[in-house]
Amino acid sequence: MSDGALRTPGGRHGTVAAGESGWAAPARLVGDGLPVPCLDGVDRPYAALDSAASTGAMTAVADRVARFLPWYSSVHRGAGYLSQLATAGYEHARREILGFAGRPDGGADIAILCRNTTEAINHLAYRLAVEPGDVVVTTAVEHHANLLPWGRVATRHVVACEADGTFSADAVVAALDGRPRPRLLAITGASNVTGWMPPLVPIVAAARERGVPVLVDAAQLAPHRPLPAEPDFLAFSGHKMYAPFGAGALVGPRAAFAAGEPFLAGGNAVDLVTLDDVIWKAPPDREEAGSPNVVGVLAFATAAAELRRIGFDAVARHDLALARRLRTGLAAIDGVRLLGPAPEAETLPIATFVVEGVPYALVAARLSAEHGVGVRHGCFCAHPYLARLLGLGAADLRRMAADVRRGDHSAFPGAVRASCGISATRADVDRLLAGVAAIAAGPPEAPYVLDRRTGDWWPAGFARPAAPAPG
Ligand code: PMP
Repeated sequence: MSDGALRTPGGRHGTVAAGESGWAAPARLVGDGLPVPCLDGVDRPYAALDSAASTGAMTAVADRVARFLPWYSSVHRGAGYLSQLATAGYEHARREILGFAGRPDGGADIAILCRNTTEAINHLAYRLAVEPGDVVVTTAVEHHANLLPWGRVATRHVVACEADGTFSADAVVAALDGRPRPRLLAITGASNVTGWMPPLVPIVAAARERGVPVLVDAAQLAPHRPLPAEPDFLAFSGHKMYAPFGAGALVGPRAAFAAGEPFLAGGNAVDLVTLDDVIWKAPPDREEAGSPNVVGVLAFATAAAELRRIGFDAVARHDLALARRLRTGLAAIDGVRLLGPAPEAETLPIATFVVEGVPYALVAARLSAEHGVGVRHGCFCAHPYLARLLGLGAADLRRMAADVRRGDHSAFPGAVRASCGISATRADVDRLLAGVAAIAAGPPEAPYVLDRRTGDWWPAGFARPAAPAPG
């Protein structure tokens, strides 16, 4: 992208100047730069380039948790001072999360607090009460969390993607015009594999014109861009936005949860239970049976507030600087193939790549053992998308299935993914690029051993980290 224009879903547009200013990390995470042992005996500061999987805690989040813990108590049920305090904190956090999702407090929407995006989407799949013959439109770009729940309850119409891992708004609109009229469009806000952001603004507008409700899987979008206000439902996770304490949210209209059986049945969700009958509470309580994760929710809301305080302009500026260097840097290395859109395309700071002739799991192992760089490898819980990006055919998929059934992952296709969070630096990206260049240039000095069962590599004789964690 040459003009520095940043498009954010939901119609909010902004312009950022790419350049040196983008390199200042907008926030610090607990544990940034911790030294990790490398194969040559040198401890190097850990370059955490796996934030698309999960993030460390923001220091503000960890401080909030530490301050809250002495006051921790059960919520909703206790008359005690601490219980009242914890309840007020929990409900305040709910409002914070709703605000983060661009929804006004006291409006038509609610935030249902749950564990993560996966649970949020399964929750919705249960609550929408779709029938097997109902069509849910989804896409080939989705994480399994936004594919499998819909396959269980409905008939999926999957919008295909091109070889570069993208699809057009028109392709989605064509699926929305299919018959029977779809019950839902379930689409990602950003890919966890390529960082590509589908053109949500026209897609959501087209769905709304046709009366098709929209769920946006915002797991990747939430830490990087303002959440769009237009989709009916949003699902996102605290552990991807610097609050790794096990809380997530499903945001949607209260009316969608006002009738019918909740996803989980149990305490706190009910006004009255007899052995023959139950009167459920009004949502959101009706949807949150059992004791909630109070600490996690407070952490989640603190991260949401912190991201809003920092501002998504600053986050996006940092993202843009990182994404450009990461993606153009990788694409420029001999023997490296970047998967997905062109290196200059506007994406989140995520890059998935293969090094020709080197098993992807060996690339990841070498980056860690020789360079102190943490990345992810494999298929990133998006098998159909990876199959498309890697150009796998039906015969490859049959062979993979046979291997996996035998418990052998040694030839499972995949790639390496580097992804940057809010505290990633230019030095982290440069260390990755230097490491990948060295790996592409030649074999390791010391032997690595393949575990055929997992498909992972490890340097022969190198001590594995032992639990409990150091310190
Ligand atoms: N959707 C996307 C796009 C993701 O990246 C992830 C996590 N990798 C999920 C859904 C699932 O999130 P969680 O593991 O927090 O449930």
